[in-house]
Amino acid sequence: MFGKKINLGYHNSMKIDVAVIGGGPAGITAGIFASRAGLNVTCFERLSVGGQAALSYEIANYPGFENISGWDLSEKFLNHAKSAEVEFVYEDVKSVEKNKSKFIIKTSNNKYEAKKIIIATGCKTRKLNLENEAKFTGKGVSYCASCDGGFYKGKNVCVVGGGDSAMEYVNYLTRIANKIYLVNRSERFRANEQTFNKVKKLKNVEIITNANVVSLNGKDILEDIDLDILGEKKNLKVDGIFFAIGQIPDLSFVKLNLKKDSLGYLLVDEDMQTNMKNVFACGDIISKRFKQVITACADGAIAGNSCIGGK
Ligand code: FAD
Repeated sequence: MFGKKINLGYHNSMKIDVAVIGGGPAGITAGIFASRAGLNVTCFERLSVGGQAALSYEIANYPGFENISGWDLSEKFLNHAKSAEVEFVYEDVKSVEKNKSKFIIKTSNNKYEAKKIIIATGCKTRKLNLENEAKFTGKGVSYCASCDGGFYKGKNVCVVGGGDSAMEYVNYLTRIANKIYLVNRSERFRANEQTFNKVKKLKNVEIITNANVVSLNGKDILEDIDLDILGEKKNLKVDGIFFAIGQIPDLSFVKLNLKKDSLGYLLVDEDMQTNMKNVFACGDIISKRFKQVITACADGAIAGNSCIGGK
């Protein structure tokens, strides 16, 4: 799903009306709407188009597709954007700053100028920051079941979390792993009730509530973990642990004075306009309650449309 990579010096020659930062569902949709209105749109993506949606094993709530893998839906998004003449630059945006009436976008390799910016960078996976967590990442610790699940065929694993992502991880791993411990810090699960009920019926899943993971043990790779269950210690022998404990916004690359909520998400108006003229934001990076592919696309449509004209 990779597109054209441009490796020149300063891209003064490249006329960018709208620079979309992030090629997830929000950014792709924003790009399609702005480009179809006749604007020159370049979408910057550091990994692969589709963002978090591409990591989803199964998307069953996007209209028109009763059931589609996140990867396949992302491929359709990319093809649609290309047919709408959205330009793709596969580079990591390191900074966005203002210079008079233009915005300067610096990536690891290049500099670009754009008239308008749409921030659609989604979120970063939250880490528990336990001792050994970084050391065992890729050696037993994972944040993505569909990426790493295949390494745990016939093994015992643990999924940590109580939301939809955790349920999705369990559903993915149930066909691969021998046993899955689903560990949640409270008795209440935030996940969709229907999805949770499906997980509860799975034969190789054991649900452990009121439990916090307190240590990740092993020599070179993860061998076992310790849980604290209401003050009592429990040890589980697992080869893998998958954290699905939420996300955090990362706007460190944006050198603009943008207003955020108390959690660090961007505040926008109904046109997806931030407090700064010509800077828009959409998708999971904005302050909102319901974060899904469909809502990211809806925000993106509004942001792309808002770039048309003077606002
Ligand atoms: P993202 O999808 O996060 O995309 C942001 C993109 O920006 C990424 O591709 C990232 O690489 C890129 N980026 C970030 N920073 C930079 C930078 N500095 N430079 C260049 N590129 C950058 N939703 C559903 O509706 N149904 C589901 O079944 C579903 N399942 C999910 C399963 C999992 C495991 C997860 C994690 C999420 C799931 N979601 C699901 C939620 C959904 O995927 C997100 O709400 C949606 O992808 C958000 O879209 P976005 O475009 O705002 O952000």
